[in-house]
Amino acid sequence: MNKKDLDYFSAKLKAEKERLEKELSGLATKNPENPENWIPSYPDFNPQLADESEKADVVEEFEIKYSVETVLEEKLNEVKEALQRIAKGTYGVCEEDKEPISRERLEANPAAKYCQKHAQFK
Ligand SMILES: [Zn+2]
Repeated sequence: MNKKDLDYFSAKLKAEKERLEKELSGLATKNPENPENWIPSYPDFNPQLADESEKADVVEEFEIKYSVETVLEEKLNEVKEALQRIAKGTYGVCEEDKEPISRERLEANPAAKYCQKHAQFK
């Protein structure tokens, strides 16, 4: 991949990284012991005062938040890995067979690690 394309995808990935971090910061806080890890913020409520249905709502809210947070964090890690591949010069090739990943595929997902053929099995 030439420098121009690398810059192009690098900019896309950085924008995506910022977007994901912003979204994550709305529903989670960074783990102070491991800044790579995010912890979903628990809803603010007093279990002494809440009745059963309120508690159930809070638990449900937390579960939804938790699953959204997990997906965002995974995506963020993929984006960071892709940026590392750009830095190492291994961006845009399939990790399985080292074949170039199609432009179309990278446009759709700049963090793609595998070519079309191998993505199906991951
Ligand atoms: Zn492949």
